[in-house]
Amino acid sequence: MKTITILVPCYNEEEVIDIFYDEVVKVINDIDYRFELLFINDGSKDRTLAKIISLRLRDSRVSYVDLSRNYGKEIAMAAGLDYASGDAVIIMDADLQDPPRLIPVMIKEWEAGYDDVYAKRSSRKGESFTKKFTAHCFYRLLGKLAKVEIQEDTGDFRLLNRQAVDALKQFKETGRYTKGLFSLIGFNKKEILFDRDERVAGKTKWNYCKLIGLAIEGITTFTIMPLRIATFIGSITGIGAFIYMIYIVLRTLIIGIALPGYASLISIMLFIGSIQLVSIGVLGEYVGRIFNETKNRPLYFINKYESTKV
Ligand code: UDP
Ligand code: MG
Repeated sequence: MKTITILVPCYNEEEVIDIFYDEVVKVINDIDYRFELLFINDGSKDRTLAKIISLRLRDSRVSYVDLSRNYGKEIAMAAGLDYASGDAVIIMDADLQDPPRLIPVMIKEWEAGYDDVYAKRSSRKGESFTKKFTAHCFYRLLGKLAKVEIQEDTGDFRLLNRQAVDALKQFKETGRYTKGLFSLIGFNKKEILFDRDERVAGKTKWNYCKLIGLAIEGITTFTIMPLRIATFIGSITGIGAFIYMIYIVLRTLIIGIALPGYASLISIMLFIGSIQLVSIGVLGEYVGRIFNETKNRPLYFINKYESTKV
């Protein structure tokens, strides 16, 4: 019989772990596959790990990886993919925002031959207009800049078959933008739609700083377009400056030296100066990334891994 791993990254989720487990078990008990419930404890500071361990004592399908500290969801997922033993892996959030009722639907599509079945949100309850709007703009921008198509309104909630999981495991980069990696690996993809609910309990770990960080990560790990844009803006201002120079020289030759010009001088200086600073900043983002990747550090360390009891 084939095994399906349900991969759950958890960071300070003590309030939802039990509810999550109950809801998922209700669904998977009716499905004719062997299941593995793989929890990744991402350095939680509350009783998340204790809850997971007590679940494991009750249910032999539960396994867990305890990471040595908080690494963030991206790396927690990478660790999960490394340890998942199933023929297919379903990645789910612990807060039930990814409804377990979609599990059988995903499995149906997997049986029909799809390699990567991802859930797309047709609505996002409990999220502010600004979050939705900025997310939309970001996907549009990234889609335009990067050559790979990134699925809009799609989280990490998806089923991946062994082939796709093994492909993802080969990406060892430390600057991870998993959503982009899903697109990059290709394979036969299938979209299913759902309404995203609000978190059942606990608090979101995301804030605008983290989201902006993830957005910059997403763009700079997937495309060098910002460098081109800097070159382009530099060239345009260069051409403008050259034309203006000719004009100034000719005017000086024809009507002589006109001393006033303080305002234009300051404006030009500030304008060119800021373009230079922004360009250096963009360049720095990439140099920083090269620095991080060349160190070739291990992605994560674990305190403990306990597999399912079979
Ligand atoms: N998460 C994690 N490590 C972190 C932050 C979050 O493993 O550093 C997990 C978290 O426990 C949850 C999932 O990632 O299972 C999604 O987090 P959250 O619900 O806070 O994000 P949102 O749904 O608001 O985007
Ligand atoms: Mg959530």
